[in-house]
This record gives sequence, structure tokens and C-alpha cells, in this order.
Amino acid sequence: MARPPVRLHASSRPQQAQEIEIGASAHNRSWLDAINGDKWRITRRIEHAPARKLRLVMPQEDEQRISMGALNPRMPTAMRWGARATVIQMTPTCPRCGGAASFALRAEDRNRMAGRGQFEYWRCDACGVLWLPDIPQDLGAHYPADYHPSLAPSELEPAIAAEQPRVDLVAEHVEPGQMVEIGPSQGIFALAAARAGFDVVAMEMDPDCCRQVTDRGVRAIHTAAPQEELPKLGPSRAAVLWHVIEHLPDPWAVLRAIGANLEPGGVLALATPNPDSFQFRAFGARWVHLDAPRHLTLIPLAALREEAARQDLALVNATASDRVGLGLNRLGWQRSFLRPPALRPDPRFAYTLGEVFGRTLGAWEARGLRGAAYTAVFVKGTA
Ligand SMILES: [Zn+2]
Repeated sequence: MARPPVRLHASSRPQQAQEIEIGASAHNRSWLDAINGDKWRITRRIEHAPARKLRLVMPQEDEQRISMGALNPRMPTAMRWGARATVIQMTPTCPRCGGAASFALRAEDRNRMAGRGQFEYWRCDACGVLWLPDIPQDLGAHYPADYHPSLAPSELEPAIAAEQPRVDLVAEHVEPGQMVEIGPSQGIFALAAARAGFDVVAMEMDPDCCRQVTDRGVRAIHTAAPQEELPKLGPSRAAVLWHVIEHLPDPWAVLRAIGANLEPGGVLALATPNPDSFQFRAFGARWVHLDAPRHLTLIPLAALREEAARQDLALVNATASDRVGLGLNRLGWQRSFLRPPALRPDPRFAYTLGEVFGRTLGAWEARGLRGAAYTAVFVKGTA
């Protein structure tokens, strides 16, 4: 595997400093700006002209701090690789449990080809969380204008009716009350929940989606950081994230904020791609539901369960064979054989091949939580 070059060598005053050269990418520059003079106490920063490399000099005691795992996940990849390969034994640590991690796979945007580039996912050796340590700075550019497909007026009522099973999933455990939906897209579920009597507050980062949700009569808060808005709300009876948590830069902060916001007996319901699925094992970086780089974190159910338990949330229901889960499983088989862009509208032979696999294996996958996506429901302790 090709690794970006990095040189670690002693400066002219080896007793005091380590000098590290990294590539002069925009990402590395902004990373240097973010840390310069702060916790890494960089003593000197040299930029070559023409700038192909950045060189930073840090006091030697900071090397110790790096080796102790004080890793900034936004650290330049070159520095991580180089450091790991040479002196400092440094790798990203799991953003959830702090465990050691291993490089998992490198993927491109196979689904939409909205941008070029390779995206490196790492997997926690302890809890299995798979994540993208280097979130692209132009992540917004990887969401094309048609990412949230528009709905014809005649499609609205059938779409709302299709959300009813998810509403029932929540209503099975709580009476209607305040419900937070994070990432409502066009607000179809939010509208279905509102009709069932829930007082829905939607949090959405896309301004167009926010407008649509508001137009449907549902309160929408425009934010890319729900963890900052949740503490401002009164206690909620339910929180839902339908295929959203994998898109959040800090899903763990959001889960903590939800745990703090839910009232006793309140419900958290979410659905997300399943990194324990048979399809992910079979397809790896080709898997449609990896959806690099839009999916930033894939969470095994066991890790989610453990994390939820820390917020006093107990798992009461988990399935990979709900209607949406089965549909996504089918999509996984249909599209993962295709060449990029895998989500193009003109599927060919490989699509039919996937159909055959999906029909053959679908029932088996659904039985053992091997399906492409799972839905999980948690209830907050009443103690
Ligand atoms: Zn972990």
C-alpha cells in the first residue's frame, strides 16, 4: 500500500525539538493553523516557497504526548502514517471508546462520483466502529443538488403512509409528546408523526429541506450540530434518526445530548447501515451502503448498544428485516456489482445479477441481523 512520504528527523537542536515535514495540502495548512501555538506548542513553523512541504518544529516533550495517544483525528494523514511507520507509533484512536484502531479500507465515491479522491476508513479493534478520520473539508460538495429527491404532489400521501410503521415503532413505547427528529430530509416522517399527535421538532442542516419541513407545518431548526441545540429544548419523549447518524461528524456527542434530553421512559429510535452485514463482508469498499465519503461512521449494533447503555438507554428492539431494511438490502445487492456511479439511473446486467442474489439470500440475511441496515429502539430508564 502506498503511503505518503514523511520525514521525521532531529533539528539542529535535537535536545529540544523534533522537526516534521508534511505535505502542504489545504487540509494540512488548516490543521496547522488550528493547533499552532496551542496544545502542541509549536515553536517554529517554516513554509517553503514554492510550498510543497510544510515543516513544523515542536518541543520534544510533545512527542511523548503524541505517543500517549493524544491524537487529533484531523491530523494530516501523512503525519499519521509517517509517525506510525517510524518513531512515534501513532494511529487514530476510536472516537467512541478510545481503543486502538486498524486501517480498514480505502474507498472512492462509487455511488455518485460527486468528487474525486480516496477515503480511508479505520476500524476500532475493540468495538468495531468503522469511521473516516479525515473528513473531507469539501464534504458539502459530495452532496449533489438531487441528493434529496423531490416528491411530486401525488406521491406525498403514499410516502406519508409508508412512514406509518416507523411511527408505530415509537408509539408502541410512548404516548405522543415532544419528538426530536434529526435529519428529517423533506419531512415526510415528521409529518406522519405530527399527524399521530407528536409535537415534532426537526433539526436539519440543509436549508432547502428546512424550508420544506417548515412548509409542512413542522417546526425546523437549521443546524449542523444538533448536540448544541438539544440542550436548549425541554425534555423530549422521543428522538429519531432515520439513516442519519452515519452522516454526523460527531455521532457520539449527539447520542449523549439525546440521552440527556430524553425524559425517563423516553424512546430513541434509529436506523443505520449495518457494518456486521453479510453484504459489507462480501463487497467491502464496493458496498453501496458504505457510501463514501458521505457515511462518516458505521456502527455495529453491539457498540451502539453499549454506548446507549452509558446514557441509560436500554435496547428493546432490533431488526434488519423491517420494510426499509429489506429494501436497502435489495438495493445493496442490485447496486454493489455495478461500476461507478453505482446509483446511476440506467442499471444493466449486474443489476439483474444482484436481483438474483438478493432474492436468494435476502431471507437468510434478514433472520440473523446480517441485513444491510438495522433499526434499533432504545428506552430510557425510569429509575
Ligand atoms: Zn471503539
